[in-house]
Amino acid sequence: MKYISTRGQAPALNFEDVVLTGLAPDGGLYVPETLPEFSQEEIASWVGLSYEELAFKVMSPFVAGEVPDAELKRIIGEAYKSFRHGAIAPLVQTSHNEWILELFQGPTLAFKDFALQFLGHLLDYILKKRQQKVVIMGATSGDTGSAAIEGCRRSENVDIFILHPHNRVSNVQRRQMTTVLENNVHNIALDGNFDDCQNMVKASFANQGFLPEGRQLVAVNSINWARIMAQIVYYFYAALALGAPARPVSFSVPTGNFGDIFAGYLAKRMGLPIEQLVIATNSNDILHRCISANDHSKQPLEHTLSPSMDIMVSSNFERMLFDLYQRDGDAIRQLMEDFKSGAMHLSDTALERARALFSSHRVDDARMVEVIREVFEKTEYLLDPHTAIGVEAARATRRNQSTPMVCLATAHPAKFPEAVKEAGQSDDPALPHHMNDLFKREERYEVLPNNLSDVHKFITRTLGH
Ligand SMILES: *Cc1c(COP(=O)(O)O)cnc(C)c1O
Repeated sequence: MKYISTRGQAPALNFEDVVLTGLAPDGGLYVPETLPEFSQEEIASWVGLSYEELAFKVMSPFVAGEVPDAELKRIIGEAYKSFRHGAIAPLVQTSHNEWILELFQGPTLAFKDFALQFLGHLLDYILKKRQQKVVIMGATSGDTGSAAIEGCRRSENVDIFILHPHNRVSNVQRRQMTTVLENNVHNIALDGNFDDCQNMVKASFANQGFLPEGRQLVAVNSINWARIMAQIVYYFYAALALGAPARPVSFSVPTGNFGDIFAGYLAKRMGLPIEQLVIATNSNDILHRCISANDHSKQPLEHTLSPSMDIMVSSNFERMLFDLYQRDGDAIRQLMEDFKSGAMHLSDTALERARALFSSHRVDDARMVEVIREVFEKTEYLLDPHTAIGVEAARATRRNQSTPMVCLATAHPAKFPEAVKEAGQSDDPALPHHMNDLFKREERYEVLPNNLSDVHKFITRTLGH
């Protein structure tokens, strides 16, 4: 399988190089040249497969010819071994034909474990084979950093540096990163905000000269294709459990960078009968404005109680635009050029296509908190704030009550105690047992000034040891 850039001016790459490359040299994002499609008969034959068996079926066409079947199976097995629930992605019913897909059973209690546990073991395999060592550098406002660290902590060929804004991530989120004491894990608390962290990482990728000989940076944010690929699997898993392919299923997805819901769109293109795909946003609603009013303009960032969806721009939306414009790289380059000045407008045809594929809805903090309370009062099921936004968006946009609606639960409520308290819960929601001692564990991190050369000095000094 070959991978091409959304901006049409970078050479096609094979799977392994795409995993190691991140952004294409023309500034675009890599997507598969052709998408595998499964027949309804084939999908029907997968009913009853375990999560791992299904993951192999769904992902193997994307790596065909590069990762041998036995290796892919082993990588999948290792990746999902760390999940606490035998189903990996269990379903819980919250109302008539309404289901929660619990994607928080992994080691860091958020859905990002699905992609990053897989990516960690995949990198291990690729790097061992190539006898290559790499440096992962990433910025995090919370969930990505801990999931990436958990994914790579046992990898001998990876050093990972994660920058978080000093004193601006929650205690649970910080401790999930800083209590991992393996020698290849390095946490940097930057004296700055999340944007400063992100700019620092971008500048480092653009100029990697500070690294020792033979090392390169690898990205673990959701522009990395392997992350998207691993997320396609749970759409199949949930839909099959609820009667697909004989019966269509709908999904509501709390959305930030458009990675998770893009995987849902791919599942549909690959043959899964998905009726409705709901884009659920918080007050940072660029995607909802785009779909509902053709307003894809940058607005100031709002800090909400669902911080993992606090974005101004959705980086993976470019992958969607590429398909909406029938894979015309020139058109995407032009759109992204327009967007640099603050806004882009979709053509009538592209907008029509987008509206045929997606519903969208925006939920502010006040309404989100009410939803946590309402669902808890009726069912005693505690939603995390991101998931609550998905549930509300599903209820507000739903067209067909007889089609099962699956709301993706992207995090465990214990990760976001503030929202849960606002919803009237008197105590912090309990962490799962295996994390009981999180607040007693030793922490290790380096506080650094918001200055590129200090960060680079720290990285080279650390790698020199
Ligand atoms: C990252 C994250 C999201 C947003 O996912 P995208 O793929 O960026 O759309 C939603 N909820 C939680 C809890 C997250 O960590």
